[in-house]
Amino acid sequence: MAYLSDIEIAQQCEMKPIMEIAKRAHVDEKYVEQYGRYKAKIDPALIDETDRKPGKLILVTAITPTPAGEGKTTTTIGLADGLSRIGKDVTVALREPSLGPVFGVKGGAAGGGYAQVVPMEDINLHFTGDFHAIGAANNLLAAMLDNHIQQGNALGIDVKKITWKRCVDMNDRQLRFVVDGLGGKANGTPREDGFDITVASEIMAVFCLASSMADLKERLSRIIVAYTYDDKPVTAGDLKATGAMAALLRDALKPNLVQTLEGTPAFVHGGPFANIAHGCNSVMATRMAMRMGDYTVTEAGFGADLGAEKFLDIKCRMAGLTPDAVVVVGTVRALKMHGGLDKKQLANEDLAALERGIPNLLRHVNNIKNVYQLPCVVAINRFPTDTDAEIDFIIRKCRELGVNTVLSTVWAEGGKGGEDLAREVVRLCEEEQGNFTFSYELDASIEEKLEAVTKKIYGGAGVVLTPAAKKQAERLTALGFDKVPVCVAKTQYSFSDDPTLLGAPEGFVVTVRNLKVSAGAGFLVALTGEIMTMPGLPKSPAAERIDVDDNGKISGLF
Ligand code: ADP
Ligand code: MG
Repeated sequence: MAYLSDIEIAQQCEMKPIMEIAKRAHVDEKYVEQYGRYKAKIDPALIDETDRKPGKLILVTAITPTPAGEGKTTTTIGLADGLSRIGKDVTVALREPSLGPVFGVKGGAAGGGYAQVVPMEDINLHFTGDFHAIGAANNLLAAMLDNHIQQGNALGIDVKKITWKRCVDMNDRQLRFVVDGLGGKANGTPREDGFDITVASEIMAVFCLASSMADLKERLSRIIVAYTYDDKPVTAGDLKATGAMAALLRDALKPNLVQTLEGTPAFVHGGPFANIAHGCNSVMATRMAMRMGDYTVTEAGFGADLGAEKFLDIKCRMAGLTPDAVVVVGTVRALKMHGGLDKKQLANEDLAALERGIPNLLRHVNNIKNVYQLPCVVAINRFPTDTDAEIDFIIRKCRELGVNTVLSTVWAEGGKGGEDLAREVVRLCEEEQGNFTFSYELDASIEEKLEAVTKKIYGGAGVVLTPAAKKQAERLTALGFDKVPVCVAKTQYSFSDDPTLLGAPEGFVVTVRNLKVSAGAGFLVALTGEIMTMPGLPKSPAAERIDVDDNGKISGLF
């Protein structure tokens, strides 16, 4: 059977004018700034001025994924449409896609099949320009930093200790390492430099954690861009860059409103990396979505060991949020992969491999239920390649093991395929009482926090810091940066720091090689292995298949 592509399904949708969607989300006209017919920015003043109380918050996360993704975004959107269909008042809160993956391998981030947010072409391409604004703020800071050095370097910045990079929202490995400032005295100071992709910029993390314009400015001013000759941090505030950066971000900071294929209001705003940053949409969009819907469904990137951990230990802690229920997305193909099946054979029926993969799912579920103490349901996201035997088997097995499990067919059927999941989520919200607990407390030492995450969430034996990382930990502690959350940058393909250790590995030790502070975001980043902050394009990038016709109709966006 041939399936329509995501973009073909999206283009068949008869979108409603955005004012209608705003109305459905209880947003008064005076807060709506229209960006064309189907997109709008919403004035954040709404969050404080509305008399609506925050509704329930549902987090969608996943088991340890395959490289293709297990369908968290798709499930988030389909669950929201399912909740709408059973009569609930619902909003969605999602990240904005980055152009890197859109033109690279993974594709867009607007959902899939009959569970998408639209207009998907706009959302996946420039949308309302937020990422360009974030890139501009990032690069203004870089320009002011190098200009400060050029104009006499009053702050005594050590050119060899500059930590701030320029950025562009593109997978462009050519820019990873560059030498700039060439051409003699009038043309800057020659130095080794490099670019990050915009979603890896600390401005993105700051933007997504900011609770208001005032908080954004405070966070921006704290960003460390370099160290002086005597090792003192130099901040964006020291460079007097805060005001201009905030001015560039003024419009970007307003959450974007769009709709799902079935007309459920969706706030799509911000999109930080899920490794060196916390990987979920802006706090302001989550807050707004929660005020404007009785139920808000949101997503955190990667598997639950990374995405949910950071959502809960970083974002919820900073923003004072408590999820009412957590959905862990599992797929037959990922379970088979964890059961040892080769990546090329994931489409073949194999009940034995499926059963061997279950421990991965169990560990994620156990973390949510017993570490974070939140109500939890597993959604099996059905793929066309899954056989009935596999679906029946996995659901029966999970239930036998005491795992609350529901089948979701939202990719094929839209909200209708999410009604069972929706009913179970409503039950969890209404009947089950969570007792939200962080996996570590902030006053623990850096090493204690890393050890808590490794042991409680990853299921490892412990953590070691390389001698260099130990020194960094001592320095950061001396600078007073030890009482903040830790953001672990780790492979998403394993509970451990070794991407080849699938399933539910035990006894492993996580090695932290590098520790740095994102002082504006307000967390420490612990790098385990090489984490790429400027990806490259693959041999045959998706960009080769994207086109636009004479009428402006875009094709090939998957
Ligand atoms: P995640 O958010 O977990 O990375 P997405 O929801 O973006 O995953 O889905 C990843 C890709 O898989 C998308 O291209 C999506 O269309 C596709 N996909 C998701 N669920 C299904 C499904 N049930 N059947 C087929 N394709 C799916
Ligand atoms: Mg996603």
